[in-house]
Amino acid sequence: MIYVRDDDVLLKRMAHTDAAGEFVNVHNIIEKYGYTHCPALLTNDLEEFPEVIEFIRYKTQQGKMIPQLHGSSHIDYANLSIQELIDDYRRCQDWFLANIGVRFTRHYTPWGAGGRRKDGTPMVRGTSIAPTAKSLGIEVVDMFKPLDPRHIVADPSVQWSNYEGRTITLHWWFNPEILDMALAKLKEAENGTS
Ligand SMILES: [Zn+2]
Repeated sequence: MIYVRDDDVLLKRMAHTDAAGEFVNVHNIIEKYGYTHCPALLTNDLEEFPEVIEFIRYKTQQGKMIPQLHGSSHIDYANLSIQELIDDYRRCQDWFLANIGVRFTRHYTPWGAGGRRKDGTPMVRGTSIAPTAKSLGIEVVDMFKPLDPRHIVADPSVQWSNYEGRTITLHWWFNPEILDMALAKLKEAENGTS
C-alpha cells in the first residue's frame, strides 16, 4: 500500500474558485491506483465546504479514505497550553464523530509541531504536544523525511521495495498530472512490469 497524506483540507486562504473540485480530483487519482488517501482536516475551515465534508464521510465509509486531524484551524500547536491542547483535541474529536462518523487517530500537526524537523532533529518547542495527544490515544505525526511525488517521477528505476508502505506528502492543490505520473510509476513497479 501507498498512503498519500494531503495537508490543509481545506484551508480558507488557499481556497480557490474550485477548491472542492481540486480536492476531489486529487482523491480520484489516488483511488484510481488503489492507494489510500489520508487527508489532514482543518475542522473550522471545512465548515464552509459542506459538500466536501459529505464527500469525505462517504469515501471514509467506503474504506477509500482515512481522514486525520491537521487542526481546528491552521495554528501552531506549540503555542497551546496542555489544557488548551486537550480542549482542542476533544472539540475536534467531537467534530469528527458528528461530521465524518469516525475518530481520528493521528495528528498531522501544522509545520510538524511537536515532532522532528525534516532532517530528523527534534523541535525545541511544543514538547508537550505528543505526550498530551498520546494520553488521548492520538499519535502525533511530524514532517520527518517527506516523500514528494516529484521525487518518484525523477527516480530513474522505481523499486517497489523502496516505496511499499510509505507515505507521500502533498497539498490538495498539488499538480494533478505529476501526482498521476508518480502513482502510475509506483503501480507499474508494484505489478512488476518495470
Ligand atoms: Zn498545513
